[in-house]
Amino acid sequence: MRRWLIVVAVVLTVMAGALAWWGGPIEFVLGGALVNAGYRLQDRLVSYDFNHDELTPEQVWDEFLQQNRLASSVRSLFPRSTRHPVIAMVTCMDGRLDTNEIAGDTRRYYYVIRTAGSVLAEKEEEMLELAVENGVKVVVFTTHTDCAAEKAARDPAKRTRFPQLTRAVEERGFRLQEFLGRPLIRERVQQGELLVKLMDLDTRNERAIPRDFSRP
Ligand SMILES: [Zn+2]
Repeated sequence: MRRWLIVVAVVLTVMAGALAWWGGPIEFVLGGALVNAGYRLQDRLVSYDFNHDELTPEQVWDEFLQQNRLASSVRSLFPRSTRHPVIAMVTCMDGRLDTNEIAGDTRRYYYVIRTAGSVLAEKEEEMLELAVENGVKVVVFTTHTDCAAEKAARDPAKRTRFPQLTRAVEERGFRLQEFLGRPLIRERVQQGELLVKLMDLDTRNERAIPRDFSRP
């Protein structure tokens, strides 16, 4: 009996020591596992409002508001911490992409701009520059596999219907260079205070494959 008590005491001491020494990383991974447990519970639930298979826009809106009421009441009870973002991400609006999953992080260290096809215009460049002025150290431009905006830009019928989107997809490389050429961005990059990165995302699992600037 006494031997067991010693073993338990040693194990508890080792665990307490590990948590004190590596507590942050352990809590981070454990938190990620619990978030994933939540995804597993919700992912298989197909019906949006649990009452209708086919929903009217009003039913979707009502359910959306109800879900927000529940979520915001939980947030009122358990407020989250505010973090200062260190990364700004440009990501496609594709519903399969989840920026928390891309970052592997639910904390609020990220500014996110989402547009179809990750397209940019001058106003988005200004948004990113503002983010850099506010302390962002890395700007990441992402594209992803099976992108509907890229497909539309390659489809003759859709090119006619969505001419502005088509042009925006085609000028992504130009916009990127334009962003890199902005005086503040160029200066921060040259001084080693800012990194600008590109990456392709595998839409199936959101794995990021960094790439260079030779392909827009
Ligand atoms: Zn897309």
